[in-house]
Amino acid sequence: MIYVAFDDTDSLKGMCTTFLATEMINEFGDLDLVGYPRLVRLNPNVPWKTRGNGALCLRFGRGTGGKFKVGELDGRDIFAWTQSTNHPPPEEILPRAVAVLEKWAEFGDRLTNPAVAVIDRKPPPSMYWKAVRDIVPIAEARDAARMAGAFKAYKNGRGIVGCVAAAAWRPLDKTYEILAYRQRERWGTEREIDAESVIEMDRRFRSTFNNYDYLNRKVTIAPGSPCPILFGIRAEEPSHLEKAMRTIRSETPDRWFIFETNQGTDEHLVKAGKTLKRHTSVNLRGRVAGPPKVIPGGHVIFPLDHGGRIDCAVYEPSKQFRRVARALMAGDEIMVCGSVRNEPKTVNVEKLCIGELTESRVKVSNPSCPGCGKRMKSIGRDAGFRCLACGTKAPATAGEWKKVKRPLKTGWYEPPVSARRHISMPLKRMGVKANPYPAP
Ligand SMILES: [Zn+2]
Repeated sequence: MIYVAFDDTDSLKGMCTTFLATEMINEFGDLDLVGYPRLVRLNPNVPWKTRGNGALCLRFGRGTGGKFKVGELDGRDIFAWTQSTNHPPPEEILPRAVAVLEKWAEFGDRLTNPAVAVIDRKPPPSMYWKAVRDIVPIAEARDAARMAGAFKAYKNGRGIVGCVAAAAWRPLDKTYEILAYRQRERWGTEREIDAESVIEMDRRFRSTFNNYDYLNRKVTIAPGSPCPILFGIRAEEPSHLEKAMRTIRSETPDRWFIFETNQGTDEHLVKAGKTLKRHTSVNLRGRVAGPPKVIPGGHVIFPLDHGGRIDCAVYEPSKQFRRVARALMAGDEIMVCGSVRNEPKTVNVEKLCIGELTESRVKVSNPSCPGCGKRMKSIGRDAGFRCLACGTKAPATAGEWKKVKRPLKTGWYEPPVSARRHISMPLKRMGVKANPYPAP
């Protein structure tokens, strides 16, 4: 089969590379789609991303094996095949893919650098891993694309990185997303989606995730941008997604497709070494090294000793998750998952697991003097006690202390649904129960 991959065609103002995928499927109606369309999220921590940093890959050929429905377009059912026998040469396909891209991509946006590649030799998996965890130099991606087939890249050429990465992806772990698109005349207007029906769908279809933020009463299947997407429902497996979509009461979708994706897989995370590389995302084990601070804007910062020392940040948009960070104490053993920010150098926390909580104590009373029996006075925090009558000293441990119940438990905490990243694995997928947030 042949891979048609494209990336970086959207902007903050509109368009969406997944919509362009539906137009590509329409253009290549004379070929058979092989497998689900693929939506591959890349490093969420690159400084120049437009929105979700997702690249697309479609596979075409002459279908064989079985076929299954993957979407609807212009009132027609669209099917994909499980296998392919042969395909036309890349040189024949590229001009047609280029025409679709040039019709729809947002060339005007400063941050948008589109590219399309038509590939018949799959790039090595390392191209995917590097693009999801680190930064791939444009020249390296161009070389790989040249080896693999034919391509066209525009402006600074960066889009080719996503093309090669999306074509290189071999799904080990994967999830699915059904994307419903808006009728053209509705683009840019407010979306009509009944929140109650989203809750209904969320409760009924257990394999779906990240649908509704119950804490903040927010529908999270619809984007906030003026792009052509009406909504997207994510799930562990694809079989119930069409039914789930039809449960949503909304404006009538124009078309819809099911995508195979690396969303919710945590594939961006690497185990951190002593030095943290900028623009990467890490799993970091350590000990909280001081009290958390709330800084202007409502962000919570706490220092972590992981062999080196780094500030971890839980930003205001994480809402209730900040309560967890605020309740940490020096000495707590934790693991954080997050992205390494360069300036100031911090780890932006995506979720965290508490391994061990340090004991919190308050002093109930001062000791009585071993010399004369009078009640002793404290001479400062952790400095111990002194008897004012006879001058005898006693260590801090001589006082009577009471254990205070911490508002945290060991185990996992994650941000509310509306504050999660596309690629971050929700605890639901990890098969662990999320701890409740401490009281405000
Ligand atoms: Zn005394």
